[in-house]
Amino acid sequence: MPSGEARCTRFPPGPTPGSVRQIFWRGLRMKCPRCGAAPIFRRWWTYTEYKECPRCALPYDPRGESLAFMYLSTAFLTGVMFIVLILVPPTDLATYRIGLVLGALALYGVTMPFRKGLAIALNYFNHRTAG
Ligand SMILES: [Zn+2]
Repeated sequence: MPSGEARCTRFPPGPTPGSVRQIFWRGLRMKCPRCGAAPIFRRWWTYTEYKECPRCALPYDPRGESLAFMYLSTAFLTGVMFIVLILVPPTDLATYRIGLVLGALALYGVTMPFRKGLAIALNYFNHRTAG
């Protein structure tokens, strides 16, 4: 065990059985990707997150690497909104524009905690397999 990696005594560091699916499922549920027992966010509706897992001390985003995933997933959602723009022609342009902008902002806001959880899970997954 690398020093400073974990203070966990209940859960072994590194992968747990059935881990790949479990890691991302835990991230999607906004739980620690390693132990799955503790939350990532103190309050997800205010986007206030713990720096590390309160249970197993896994640092959630020590180098801010989740920013790239957040950026790319926001770009993906923007692409989804462009597809909606192409596939659903407007009948009333003013209402359509307002609806599309509000829909996009709601989509970004509502999915943000889940995307952050997935980003942290992906980060954990990458570092887990690297070493
Ligand atoms: Zn944990």
